[in-house]
Amino acid sequence: MEIQIDLDKCTGCGLCVPACPFGVLEIVDDKAQIKEGCTLCGACQEACGYDAIIIEAVEAEVSKGFRGVWVFAEQRDSKVKGVAYELVSEGRRLANALETELCAVCFGHGVEGIEQLIAYGADKVYLVDHPALADYQDDLYTKELVDLIRQHRPEILLAGATPLGRSLIPRVAAILETGLTADCTGLEIDPESKLLLQTRPTFGGNIMATIICQARRPQMSTVRPHVFQKGRLEERRRGEIIRVDFDGQSVTSRTKLLHLLKDLTEKVNLEDADIIVCGGRGLGKAENFQIVAELAEVLGAALGSSRPPIDDGWIPYSHQVGQTGKTVCPKLYIACGISGAVQHLAGMQTSEIIVAINEDPKAPIFEVATYGIVGDLFKIVPMLTAKLKEIRG
Ligand code: FAD
Repeated sequence: MEIQIDLDKCTGCGLCVPACPFGVLEIVDDKAQIKEGCTLCGACQEACGYDAIIIEAVEAEVSKGFRGVWVFAEQRDSKVKGVAYELVSEGRRLANALETELCAVCFGHGVEGIEQLIAYGADKVYLVDHPALADYQDDLYTKELVDLIRQHRPEILLAGATPLGRSLIPRVAAILETGLTADCTGLEIDPESKLLLQTRPTFGGNIMATIICQARRPQMSTVRPHVFQKGRLEERRRGEIIRVDFDGQSVTSRTKLLHLLKDLTEKVNLEDADIIVCGGRGLGKAENFQIVAELAEVLGAALGSSRPPIDDGWIPYSHQVGQTGKTVCPKLYIACGISGAVQHLAGMQTSEIIVAINEDPKAPIFEVATYGIVGDLFKIVPMLTAKLKEIRG
């Protein structure tokens, strides 16, 4: 049984009935009854004032036969991406809390940086090396990851909330009929239930929600790059690299990758940049982005944007920083004409040094800024650019 009503405790008060978001509870003969379709969300248990609804027993049963924490280690251009090392470091912490092993899974061809997955904390790496997997392809990656999960039954799977992760992981979760929490900002193991507590912003970034996946395995989360820090690299750490054969013939792909196009406006990759110059609505119009682009150029910085310039088509989406854009953590972040809305801060407030240029002294960006310059960006930014050019000859 997945959920139980303690008939001795149930008074038939009916509090649980409206609490159920799926309408599967009813009162029959003064006792609560559960119809088909219960997802074990726990809303009824919270609403019950008499501790008459029991779902704990199910949690232990669900986890039976599932063991280990897995990290999907994404690669690009045959190099393991930084987010994979961040997740392996975090995964190590979770695996220690569960006293279980940590495995990384990597698909690609001739991928560099596999050993570092072990050095950052993985006990095993499942490596699927094949020319067909060199670049991401939905059907091939999905089938391979689902097969491996079905074979090894990990209890947790983490992946980067990158364009690849956002495409692959929901497909895998849907096929396995399990839960997925996207864009987590915090992961913990509940000491009692041993469930993964997955925290993420919700309601436009104003509330933090902690989500659990009680009824299905694996528990799956995606995390954006730079949300977690890489741990210490232990070159002498030992682990096992297990090469898995790939049978490309057995997968029919509905799509065909013709070629990959690079975003030519992105001279320096935002997520890897040490310095970012970011423009906001304060720039007024598309042509004015040139002012911040010149400052970025002289600093060798990446060019970022808040959301309004993207929405207005001034600059492509790949430059957006924030909750629905990229999460960045550069050494220096220069915000020009950006007010500092929570959704923007969510993507940049862990930057080491933040310089804010805004004419409004009350702009919230100044609350997170290391240095604030109150004034007109159209005067300040060109002055900075000219001075830097002068210094650099
Ligand atoms: P504004 O808030 O309009 O601020 C412009 C600033 O420029 C003002 O502070 C003004 O004082 C200053 N200014 C004007 N002229 C000058 C001048 N000449 N010199 C100096 N300063 C000047 N936003 C993001 O950025 N990233 C996201 O990922 C994101 N995701 C979102 C997701 C959701 C679900 C929602 C609801 C919103 C999201 N937003 C996001 C939008 C966010 O709420 C803000 O609307 C947005 O960040 C504001 O951008 P801004 O600071 O450029 O513009």
